[in-house]
Amino acid sequence: MTVERASASLFMITSDCTRCGVCEFMCPLGAIKEAPNQFVVRRQVCDGCGECVAYCPVRAIVPAHEFASRQRHTRKAELKRVLGV
Ligand code: SF4
Ligand code: SF4
Repeated sequence: MTVERASASLFMITSDCTRCGVCEFMCPLGAIKEAPNQFVVRRQVCDGCGECVAYCPVRAIVPAHEFASRQRHTRKAELKRVLGV
């Protein structure tokens, strides 16, 4: 059964996500879904178990408190810096 909760997300997915879909398949609560450009964690459903983290081949799933710093160093962010856009 899926429990809807109104808490802050404990895990988030950076733009390093390659949309492989493994995390969506492995999450026991069905808390991960595909969004237009990448997969995202549904904070109302996620219970913070952390199981998805180990399955991501590009380490795109990160604790929410690390998200801002990790997002600044994704491949996309580095490419923008190199290209100056
Ligand atoms: S932390 Fe657990 S519940 Fe939340 S998205 Fe990952 S596997 Fe699913
Ligand atoms: S496992 Fe990682 S790369 Fe694959 S969809 Fe999930 S977050 Fe994206």
